[in-house]
Amino acid sequence: MIVRMLIASFSAFDTAGWRWPHFSPRELACRCGGKFCKGEYWHEEAFLDALEALRAEIGAPLAINSGHRCDLWNAWVGGAANSMHKQVAADVSLAGHDRHALKAAAQRTGFTGFGLGTNFLHIDRRAVPTVWLYPGSAKSWRT
Ligand SMILES: [Zn+2]
Repeated sequence: MIVRMLIASFSAFDTAGWRWPHFSPRELACRCGGKFCKGEYWHEEAFLDALEALRAEIGAPLAINSGHRCDLWNAWVGGAANSMHKQVAADVSLAGHDRHALKAAAQRTGFTGFGLGTNFLHIDRRAVPTVWLYPGSAKSWRT
């Protein structure tokens, strides 16, 4: 069984057996729009399982602002050189969500990396749990 792999284009991914009803390869694929790649997609079942569990736990849609990024797109948008977006991570829009409740639910459903943005929550499944802020985002996360 394939657990994790990089696919050259989301449109080339065979979705037979896709079992994550609230998410699609398209929305998790690179958003460079053909500038650097053809919509690279990183397929990782454990990440998708955690994302569906998070969706179920909060009972509301999750809008993905950024999922996988090809190397050049990650550099273009100013992502860290070792960004988890080069494999799979999600920047979830905070519109319509309680940011603290969303982060707590993500911790319960298997995410370990948390980037606390003003308008988004970055989540990933890194080996060493980490939480960070972005320039100007601290105020929005103050309790
Ligand atoms: Zn790309």
